[in-house]
Amino acid sequence: MSAIILSIGDELVSGLTVNTNATWLSRELSAIGISTLRQVTVGDDQNAIAAAIREACGQCRLVLISGGLGPTLDDVTRQALAAALDTTLVEDSTALDQLEAFFQRINRPMAPSNRRQALRPQTAQCLPNSCGTAPGLFASTRATDIFVVPGVPREMRAMFTQSILPRLGQLSQNLVTRTYQLNTFGIGESVIGQRIADLMVRGANPSIGTTVHEGVVSVRIYARGSAAQADAMVEDARRKIIQRLGNAIFSQQEQSLQEALAVLLNEYGPTIAVAESCTGGLLAQMLTSVPGASSYFQRGWVTYSDQAKVEELGVPHELLQTHGAVSEPVALAMAQGALSRAASQWALSITGIAGPDGGTAEKPVGLVYIGLAGPGRSTVRRNIFTGDRAGIRLRSAQMAMTILRLTLQGLDVDTVLA
Ligand code: ATP
Ligand code: MG
Repeated sequence: MSAIILSIGDELVSGLTVNTNATWLSRELSAIGISTLRQVTVGDDQNAIAAAIREACGQCRLVLISGGLGPTLDDVTRQALAAALDTTLVEDSTALDQLEAFFQRINRPMAPSNRRQALRPQTAQCLPNSCGTAPGLFASTRATDIFVVPGVPREMRAMFTQSILPRLGQLSQNLVTRTYQLNTFGIGESVIGQRIADLMVRGANPSIGTTVHEGVVSVRIYARGSAAQADAMVEDARRKIIQRLGNAIFSQQEQSLQEALAVLLNEYGPTIAVAESCTGGLLAQMLTSVPGASSYFQRGWVTYSDQAKVEELGVPHELLQTHGAVSEPVALAMAQGALSRAASQWALSITGIAGPDGGTAEKPVGLVYIGLAGPGRSTVRRNIFTGDRAGIRLRSAQMAMTILRLTLQGLDVDTVLA
């Protein structure tokens, strides 16, 4: 079964408001096995909304409409629905009672304009609104069920959960869609795609695909069936993907890189320090964004200038003069300096060129050295990151966390990220 989602509002088509309602509704529908055929956004124009409703009704079993139910004259979804259903608006006495009760509860007089919200197309029913004024609407045409919910996200979600979801359960024949994701960092999406190419057959069930968000490549599994079937399909696909991608996977589901690292740090119990140049404290910020970071994070330096690297971390002046601040020896000295001064078990360092200016042929924008010093060993990894300044800084911090993660797990960074 498929659905079309109509989002109504001038603020949406003009780009002033991000249409989070459509995203949320599609995800909720997907969870109960209803796929979204299309998401359509229409401004507050009665004829345009009516046309969009008519068109949608011919194409799917379910139309979900959000927005345009307010009391003001620019909210015209009600009128548009009546037009699309070839009927007129009538006042719903129950809805009017509920509106009056709502204003009594909040101890405010009801404006005459609010009375408009008790209007419904003659052949539609009102849906109660548990946290706002605008009642929702439900209508059925020959082939399609139409639900209208308020645009305010909180009211929309409450009404969907309380009044719409119970009716949809029967429509979707108890099929569910389970989704699961495995997250990787440090290997390109195309390489991931090659390793699991045979699992990514279009239209298969389960279907498997990749998405990239801020450098993290996630492999998503969508499995459709009864709850037990879908769970079994997810588990089978998950096992196959882990076999192919192995330790490049840093977490499953929503867990971030820093959260995954925090789990390891708490498990193994070491303390860490960081010395940052081009990331300006981003690595420290990310590491300490996880609750409980005080059990492993000891201290961080932002040594942006050469002088700071010398004074704060004891980087030898000659190293900076001979090799430059963005170099392997300086990254190493920064990590070792942080390690000894913090008396931590591990220390990470980052020095690079985030751009957009400052690159040369020999040292291009995106060149970032990441040092790691720890028990009896020190390493430096040379990276060339692409992207803008923000992207290069973020990749640098993410790669530093990845290097520490793999090292703590006793793995060779170059082998895993090859
Ligand atoms: P209602 O039907 O509850 O009156 P409305 O669309 O008529 O909603 P608006 O004043 O247009 O009332 O919108 C209410 C709020 O909800 C606004 O802040 C608006 O930006 C937000 N909103 C409306 N539609 C969406 C959407 N699709 N996604 C996210 N926010 C939305
Ligand atoms: Mg609106």
